[in-house]
Amino acid sequence: MRRITIAIDGFSSCGKSTLAKQLAHHLRYTYIDSGAMYRAVALYAIENGLIVDGVLVLADLLRVLPGIRIGFEHDDTTQRSETWLDGRNVEHRIRELDVSNCVTLVSPVPEVRAKLVRTQQELGAGGGVVMDGRDIGTVVFPGAEVKFFMTARPEVRAERRYKELRGRGADVTFESVLANIGRRDLDDTTRKADPLVQAPGAIVIDNSNMTSAEQFDIALGHVVKAIGTVAEA
Ligand code: C5P
Repeated sequence: MRRITIAIDGFSSCGKSTLAKQLAHHLRYTYIDSGAMYRAVALYAIENGLIVDGVLVLADLLRVLPGIRIGFEHDDTTQRSETWLDGRNVEHRIRELDVSNCVTLVSPVPEVRAKLVRTQQELGAGGGVVMDGRDIGTVVFPGAEVKFFMTARPEVRAERRYKELRGRGADVTFESVLANIGRRDLDDTTRKADPLVQAPGAIVIDNSNMTSAEQFDIALGHVVKAIGTVAEA
């Protein structure tokens, strides 16, 4: 049976990766977290003094960008694909709030996007992939057989993210998480390069009042229908 491409776009912290992982696991597809790659660039910028007083030193980033190595490695203990930056596992570090607060400094940069989009297209080239992000159905895989556009009320998203971060021992307030989400929604939808927009043909899922199991059932229904259509074609 042909292995399709599933693109999941949507706002920050609205459960895209949860759904993507569930679908990938169920279908035995590869899951790729494109946001992790932008987070890795942001972490690089933080650690190498490329953000000064909250401003990105663009010329310096552009000079080193071609040499920054970002990828994923399967971890046998966690049974998960984890994010690596220049030979180091940064899977947890990139989820911290300082990275979330700086990521929209690097994600609008066209050269950053070009590099990461190219890698994402290579990683997903053979199909059998679920990728989540902001521009997957519009730019990375405009031909994806199934596209989802996910959303939820900001307070609901902030509550989920706050619980997740506190659960990992992070010292954050609900207000700071909510502010970060609002800021990133605005930055991601208003930037010039590849802004977050609903891709043509995308299926909208508002999961404000849905459990992840309900969301998965709905999404899987669409995917099964699409695989059937592709197989018959
Ligand atoms: O998905 P996640 O919240 O981890 O993404 C972090 C940030 O990376 C987003 O706020 C956005 O600025 C950027 N991003 C992007 N394009 C993608 C995925 C993420 O610009 N495909």
